[in-house]
Amino acid sequence: MTAPLPAEFVARVRTELGTEADALFAALEGESPVSVRWNPYKTILPPSGEEVPWNRYGRYLPERPYFTADPMFHAGTYYVQEASSMFVEHLLRSAMEPEGARILDMCAAPGGKSTLYATLAGAEGLVVANEVVRSRAATLADNIRKWGIGNVLVSNNDPSHFAGLPEWFDVVAVDAPCSGEGMFRKSEEARREWSEAAVEMCAARQRRILADAWKALRPGGIMIYSTCTFNRTEDEDNIAWLARNFDCEDAGVEVPEEWNIAISEAEGIRCFRFWPHRTKGEGFFAASIRKCGQKGRTVRPKARRTIFTDLTRKETAEAARWTGQPELMRFARIGDTVYGYYYINYADIRCIGEYLNVIYSGVCMGQLFNGSLKPDHSLAMFHDMYPYAATTSALPIESAIRYLAKEELTADMFAEGMNIVTFQGHALGWAKRIGRRVNNLYPKQLAIINK
Ligand code: SAM
Repeated sequence: MTAPLPAEFVARVRTELGTEADALFAALEGESPVSVRWNPYKTILPPSGEEVPWNRYGRYLPERPYFTADPMFHAGTYYVQEASSMFVEHLLRSAMEPEGARILDMCAAPGGKSTLYATLAGAEGLVVANEVVRSRAATLADNIRKWGIGNVLVSNNDPSHFAGLPEWFDVVAVDAPCSGEGMFRKSEEARREWSEAAVEMCAARQRRILADAWKALRPGGIMIYSTCTFNRTEDEDNIAWLARNFDCEDAGVEVPEEWNIAISEAEGIRCFRFWPHRTKGEGFFAASIRKCGQKGRTVRPKARRTIFTDLTRKETAEAARWTGQPELMRFARIGDTVYGYYYINYADIRCIGEYLNVIYSGVCMGQLFNGSLKPDHSLAMFHDMYPYAATTSALPIESAIRYLAKEELTADMFAEGMNIVTFQGHALGWAKRIGRRVNNLYPKQLAIINK
C-alpha cells in the first residue's frame, strides 16, 4: 500500500493504545484474512476451513480463491464477508431469538449483513433491507436475489421516511456509513479520504440515522449499531448520545475472553471493538441496545399507492407449480410481473411496499404469457424453486463458466424448451433451447467479464 496511515490517526491511536499501537500499525500493513459465510438454505455442506467463532456459518479460507470463477459463488451458496462483521449474529442471538423477527437493516448495501439477517430471520421473518443510494440499492437487490431465501424487501429510502413505520420492527440495524479506519488495511482510498473533519461529519450523520431508526424500533426490540472505524467519536460517543437521549438499556451480550474482542462501556451500554492485531478480521465496532418503554398502538402506514393486484385461480395454479411448497406462499402481481411471498409476511410486505420506495421484494417469479409463466432469474435463485418445473441441464465447470459469462453454448447439452441450468446441483439460471439454437438467459448485468 503506497498511501501512509494519516498522521492524526497515528497520533491518536498511540495515545489510546500506548505500546500496543505498533502491533496495530503492523497489522494494517499486512494481509487481510479471507472468510466466507455459507447459505444454509442452499447447501448443507459448509466450505472446509477454520470456523469463525462468533458466527455458525462463517469459515476462514486458507487463501483468497478467484471467486469470480467459482459457479457456487454465483449460485448464492456462500457470501464473501469479512469475519469481524459476522459478529452481528452473536449480538442478535444473545439478545433475542431472531427466527420470525421483523428486521430493518437501515444501511444495507451491498448486503453482507442483510443476507445474514435473512438467514437468521428465516421464512417466517421479514428483513427490510434499505439503502439510500440508488445505484448501491440495485447491487443490494442483486445480492438479495442471489441469496434466494425470499424473505427480504429491498427499499431505496432516506432513513427519515421510516417515520411512517413507528415501532414496527423487532430489530433495527444501523451499520452506519463511517470514516472507515477499519478499512485502512484493505483500501488505499480509505486512507486518503480520512480526515478529522470527516470523522466529525460522519458522527453527526450517524446520530441523524440513529434518531430516525430508533422511531421504527418497538419497545423491547434490539438496535444493533456498528461501524468499521476505531475512533470513539463515531463509536462510544454515539452510543453514549443514544443512551442519554432515548429510553434504553444494554442488551446483555457476553463474549468469551478467548475471542480477544475489546470491551468498553458507554453510559452503561457495552461496546465491542475488533482490533485487527488481536482478532482475525478487519476493524469493527458494534453494540447492541434494548429499547425500553411500553409499546404504543401499531400504526399502519398510509399507502401512497396501490401496487399489488391478485392473480386469478388459474394464474395462481401456474405460479404455484414452480415452487416447492406452494401452500406456504401467496402470489401477487406488480405491474405485469408475478411475485411470490411467504403467506405469513405478505400483509406486511404489501403494507410496506405501498408506502416505501420498494425496488425488490419476495421472489420475482416472472411474467405470464397466455397463462404460462416465463420464469425470471430470481426464481432460479430461489432456494425453494420446484426443481422439476423445467428440465435440468447440469453443466460441467467449463460450460458453467461460459454460461455465467453469457457466451454461446452448444445445443446438445440442453433439452428443447426452457432449462434450469445447474452446477453441482445448484441453480445458476435459465437457458432456452429452440432447435439448434440456445438462448443464454443469464442476466446481462451479472455476466462475468474476466473469467
Ligand atoms: N451493511 C452493509 C453490508 O454489510 O454489506 C454495509 C453498509 S455501509 C457500511 C453503509 C451504507 O450506508 C452504504 O451503503 C451507504 O451508501 C449508506 N449511506 C450513506 N449515507 C447514508 C445516509 N445518510 N443514511 C443512510 N445510509 C447512508
